[in-house]
Amino acid sequence: MLCQRVIAFSMLLFSTTLSWSQAKLSTHWEELTASDFREGIRRSQGTCLLPFGILEKHGPHLPLGTDLLDVRYAALHAADQEYAVVFPEYYFGQIFEAKHEPGTVAYSTQLQLALLQETTDEMARNGCKKVLIVNGHGGNEHLLPFFAQSQLERPRDYVVYVLGSVEPPPGGPPHKSTAINWHAGESETSHMMISRPDLVHIDRASDESGADQKRLNLPENVYTGIWWYARFPYHYSGEGALATHELGEYDMKAWVSGIVNAIRAVKADQNSLKLQNQFYEKSKRPLDTQP
Ligand SMILES: [Zn+2]
Repeated sequence: MLCQRVIAFSMLLFSTTLSWSQAKLSTHWEELTASDFREGIRRSQGTCLLPFGILEKHGPHLPLGTDLLDVRYAALHAADQEYAVVFPEYYFGQIFEAKHEPGTVAYSTQLQLALLQETTDEMARNGCKKVLIVNGHGGNEHLLPFFAQSQLERPRDYVVYVLGSVEPPPGGPPHKSTAINWHAGESETSHMMISRPDLVHIDRASDESGADQKRLNLPENVYTGIWWYARFPYHYSGEGALATHELGEYDMKAWVSGIVNAIRAVKADQNSLKLQNQFYEKSKRPLDTQP
């Protein structure tokens, strides 16, 4: 009888501990204890998120950390739905085009690449064999695929995945903007209304112009680094004043579910690392590669 009671009690204790730890295990890397981190890596199947923001001017009305705050909001909500360990605040990306504005932090090219490489190396050394970089900043659109390509330079025991911008599905609240709607415009201002509404100064949204200044005349397929400054020298591209809570909610929901889908796909992916290893082996002896 006593024995049965002891068993029943320890089972109760075990299930309570289990449900407690399952309910309480944080998705934030920095909030986990060392032993909880081990459990986090196990539960995430080695899948970790690196939400990538930036510090730059966002029109006259949004905070410098808009991209960082938005991407972390979306990534953390996604990880709540599909468990993954989320790396702390990261904002060391490409933003030279905003160096003339106050508050921009623009690290050198070499440091951006070196820091990102060492960060993903360190993540992998700690068990994140699948690193999903979630991009929150348009200026990283070339940097991140290049970084992913550069992983083939030498063998690595982990895979870098990049999730670019997630387009919301058609059918949401109609946009009011008739012109461009990019940086700190209707959409981005709406997103901030969801992630940090206290930081949206909507009354200042019309203090500056977010119109395209059209100061370059080049064919679309000719790229030059000064293009952004030529078109949007005030780091404002659109009309933030048109933002709505409804649009923000719709877009954010889509972003979160896009990240959830990406986490699930990455967890299920058994091919990338296998192919990477095969590639590394073959690249040592290219003359042996048969057609
Ligand atoms: Zn932004």
